[in-house]
Amino acid sequence: MSDLYARHRSVLPDWLALYYEDPIEITHGEGRHVWDSEGNKYLDFFGGILTTMTAHALPEVTKAVSEQAGRILHSSTLYLNRQMVELAERIAQLSGIPDARVFFTTSGTEANDTALLLATTHRRSNTILAMRNSYHGRSFSAVGITGNRGWSPTSLSPLQTLYVHGGVRTRGPYASLSDADFIAACVDDLRDLLGHTRPPAALIAEPIQGVGGFTSGPDGLYAAFREVLAERGILWIADEVQTGWGRTGDHFWGWQAHGRNGPPDILTFAKGIGNGSSIGGVVARAEIMNCLDANSISTFGGTQITMAAGLANLNYLLEHDLQGNARRVGGLLMERLRGVAAQVPHVREVRGRGLMLGVELVKPGTDQADPDAAAAVLEATRAGGLLIGKGGGHNTSALRIAPPLSLTVAEAEEGAAILESALRSL
Ligand code: PLP
Repeated sequence: MSDLYARHRSVLPDWLALYYEDPIEITHGEGRHVWDSEGNKYLDFFGGILTTMTAHALPEVTKAVSEQAGRILHSSTLYLNRQMVELAERIAQLSGIPDARVFFTTSGTEANDTALLLATTHRRSNTILAMRNSYHGRSFSAVGITGNRGWSPTSLSPLQTLYVHGGVRTRGPYASLSDADFIAACVDDLRDLLGHTRPPAALIAEPIQGVGGFTSGPDGLYAAFREVLAERGILWIADEVQTGWGRTGDHFWGWQAHGRNGPPDILTFAKGIGNGSSIGGVVARAEIMNCLDANSISTFGGTQITMAAGLANLNYLLEHDLQGNARRVGGLLMERLRGVAAQVPHVREVRGRGLMLGVELVKPGTDQADPDAAAAVLEATRAGGLLIGKGGGHNTSALRIAPPLSLTVAEAEEGAAILESALRSL
């Protein structure tokens, strides 16, 4: 055990997750690569857990941050803040939500907390619909609505949460249904649930479940849910913490794969927009955002230093069409991995879209999840110079691949070759 690991163990919580039997200390990065404290270089297929959206140490972001740091880091949003207004304008316009208002937080958890505060206040109900297998953060209320069993048992949240089918398709009675039949079955379940409960405030859902292993229902699922919800005035909160900013290639937001009847009522974001600096936030129609009778700020939400990073990062992302790159390079990577999967009996499924790809591992010849195989692949890819992720909580049998969106074709091929050899060695 390294000295740093021993110190980590002695002072930080036991439940603070760490990858690898002998955890690494990352010291710096450039482009799609990072280096550890022993000088090893890795191709980064996890993008700092989907936070490095464009590239590590992107000069445009570094310049904006250092110039801003030379002026002022933070002056509180009690004073006018040009960078915050500019980023809010851009996000409001990109969100597709009419008459949108944006509130900045410092994390995805706090963004979802705020969305829950808004929805429950607006609708005067503390009942929330959430998806099975979901993850929405680690605060009292976010854990309370998280469907992933890895977190929810610890919560005694006062919110009443009802879990909806539709997030997971790989296993169970729904696995063999056609897309249309699957959606119809989930809608029936939802109607049934609503017939037995006080009117909920909202349904919160990740368009593609992140921690759940990059799994999703078919396109159009949430549009079908939306019709049922809208009949009853129930709000839809799209948790875009992992799926936003073009990551899914086909769309700028994950909800757009379900967008037949327009944008969500509330959208939450975080992770990639700051390229590693802590920006989260909520977008909602003015009528919903302004339902709070409060005079409030988030001390570090919207601070100049993070807004400068967010603006530079967003500009780069749009000017270089990284969404298009995610679609093209992600498509090639998906094809390559599906080719490998066909020959490796441990691989049950390669799924996802853009540069958000999940590889589900099972015990060969069965439908049984195989977390040990996923752990072995993580160790083997690390040894080969590639960092990847895996699902969290009770979903540790899925590998998660989410590189920075500037990934090149050559890097995709290099990473796929390392992953292929790790999968074949199972
Ligand atoms: N929502 C989703 C979909 C997430 O994946 C996460 C984190 O992984 C969160 C919310 C919580 O975000 P944070 O860790 O920034 O609090």
